[in-house]
Order: sequence, then C-alpha cells, then structure tokens
Amino acid sequence: MLNILIVGNGQCGNRILDAINREAFGKKSRFGKYLSQQKYKSNVETIAINTAVNDLKEMKFTKAKDRIHIPHLHGVGANRNVGKHVFEDNKTHIMRQIEERGNFDVCFVITSASGGTGSSFTPMLVKELKEKHDFPVYSVVVLPFREEGTLYLQNAAFCLRDIRESGADGIILADNQYLKQMGGNVESAYNGINDMIAKRILFLLDALDSEMMMVTDLGDFKTVMSGGAGLATIGFYEAKEDMPVRTAIQKALSPSGLLFSTDVYDEASRAMVIIRGDRERLSIDEISTEVEKLSSAVGHVFKGIIVRDGELPQVLAVLTLESASELENLYAIAVDAIKYERDKKERVSNVKEVDRAFSQIDGMDPSY
Ligand code: GDP
Repeated sequence: MLNILIVGNGQCGNRILDAINREAFGKKSRFGKYLSQQKYKSNVETIAINTAVNDLKEMKFTKAKDRIHIPHLHGVGANRNVGKHVFEDNKTHIMRQIEERGNFDVCFVITSASGGTGSSFTPMLVKELKEKHDFPVYSVVVLPFREEGTLYLQNAAFCLRDIRESGADGIILADNQYLKQMGGNVESAYNGINDMIAKRILFLLDALDSEMMMVTDLGDFKTVMSGGAGLATIGFYEAKEDMPVRTAIQKALSPSGLLFSTDVYDEASRAMVIIRGDRERLSIDEISTEVEKLSSAVGHVFKGIIVRDGELPQVLAVLTLESASELENLYAIAVDAIKYERDKKERVSNVKEVDRAFSQIDGMDPSY
C-alpha cells in the first residue's frame, strides 16, 4: 500500500483538494469529512494550506485538522514577494504539520500558478520537501485564464520557473483557459475544471496501487514523469454505453480529454496509458493497436490494464511533453504583462503631478 501526500495551496489548490476529497469520500455525503472511511486504497493524507481563512472555511469535504491557516491579514493579495516572506516566516510550522503525518512514497502539491499564496508557497514547499525527504514530489499547476490581468500573467510565468527550479520531479499542467469550454459562469467553470482534475488524480492514485492485469506502478510513473522537459499533462475519458475501447483511448488523448492544449503525437515525450473496465469490454487487440500508434510517435508508452467487473472502460493517459507551444504562447503574453507592469511602476514613480496637487495645501489646515 502506498503512502501518498496531497497538499493544496491557496484558493485554487484548496478547492481542487476538496474536490478530490469529495470524490474519495463519496459524492453523496456532504458530511463525508466526518466519516473516516475513504475510498482510497492507498494511505492518503491531504493538507490544505492558505493565508485566507475564508478559503479554508469554504472547504466542505476536507477535515478541519487538515486545513492549515497561516495568518497574514486577508491573504497576500497576489503579491508573490509577500507570499514568499510569509512562507519563510511560517516554514517550521508548515513542515512540522507535514512531518507529523509520517513518511510518504509520493507527494502531489496542487496550486494555481497565478495567485499569491499558492504560487509563492508551492516552489518553496517543494524545495523544503526535496531537501528533507527522498520521495518524489509532483506539482499540479493550474494556469490562468489569459484575460485575468497582467499581475496573474506575470505571477504564472515566474511561478512555473520557480517550481522547475525547486527540484520538483515534474509539473502536471492544467489550463483554465483551455478548459473554459466547460461553459457556464466562472464558478461552474471552476467546479467543472476542479472535478476534471480531481477525477484524473484519483484514477491515477487508484492505478498506482492496484492489482492489474497488465501492470504499471509508481516506478513506471516516475520514469514517465522524468522524460521530456519536466512538464506533463493528463488525459481521461470514460466510454459511453457501446463505445469500443479503441475510441475511448483516442478520446482520452484528444483535446477534449486533456487538461492542457497539446498535440500529444507531436509534443509528448513519454506516456503511461491505463485502461480500467470490465474484461469483456477490454479488447487487447484494440488496446495494443492504439498504444502502438502512440508509441510510434512518442517513443515509450507504459500500458496498464485494470479489470473491474461491470464497469464501462475508462482511460487515463499521463503524458510528459518535450515541447509545449501553448506554454511558449503564455510566456509571450506574460513578457508583455511584465513589461507593462514595470513601465507603469516607472511612470507612477516619475509622476509628480499628484504630489504637486497635494503640495498646494502644505502648511494649511481646514477651517470650519
Ligand atoms: P491564492 O489563493 O492567492 O493562491 O490565489 P488563487 O488560487 O485564487 O489564484 C488565482 C488563480 O487561480 C486565477 O488564475 C484563478 O482563475 C484560479 N482559480 C481560483 N480558484 C479556482 C478554482 O476553484 N478552480 C480553478 N480551476 N482555478 C481557480
């Protein structure tokens, strides 16, 4: 049995963690957090960390003892410099909370790249974990909607670089912009995106700790994640009634199944494809043909098959990327955002008009 740690940092990280716990405790019970029986096969510890106490209070499926508030007024206001100081000041407390939960085989740290708390805490937490432990640490990073503004864009650019430099064993990308076709208002888009990410992570955890007909394990996952440029994404698809498994695999690898915009046949570097379902529905020929198609394009593909009686086929694909043109696009926009903010700061420090206006009343007092 694997010991797994999942940390959710900041609002986005907290919410995705809560979605994971909701799935794990069973969706029906709003009181799931009070029950001790999880659906995890592994020993999973979840920890939510935030400077904004309201974000932590909003969580419905994560136990109170797993929600760690780091007091700092009302959050860090999307300022990563402030966030880094707050982490540094509270590092011992945060690490103690994690260490009290024992040792782990693997850790996932979930965050948005663009806010303040999660984006500044995550690289520093990963660095601490890597310095003190020898288990692999993967970061699940949510990229912003491109129209969310210059501060978020510049945060995303620096945060991703910091996570790569932190010693993380891999970064799994999910892109709000790409997933916004989920539709509806922002809140329901968030919920939809969070559910997609939660479902994929839970499937992955299940697969890493399952008795399979054809085996993939944590070792294979590590090998996949160590390929490529340190970046990865995940695809998933659940077959409809009579859909052949071949179509389900194709859909998991297609834009509608992925968390990040990429052409897997062009940009992927290594992959792990896990197929779960009723034995009757899992045609080995179809599975082999699809996996071979992928491996002829990307190189090595690990294949896992989990037999579950009565289940429709579900397919999970973990893909590391050797290039990511969408990320290059994001950095191009972020560079403009950084320049814009820098120029504005210079302009503001040069502008003396406002000071001049105020100086007109120097030495005066109001008369009533
Ligand atoms: P922090 O609390 O300071 O770490 O900041 P947030 O996590 O709120 O970061 C802001 C970014 O996260 C923006 O790009 C938001 O679009 C995104 N975000 C916030 N909440 C959610 C959520 O529940 N789901 C998703 N997918 N993105 C979110």
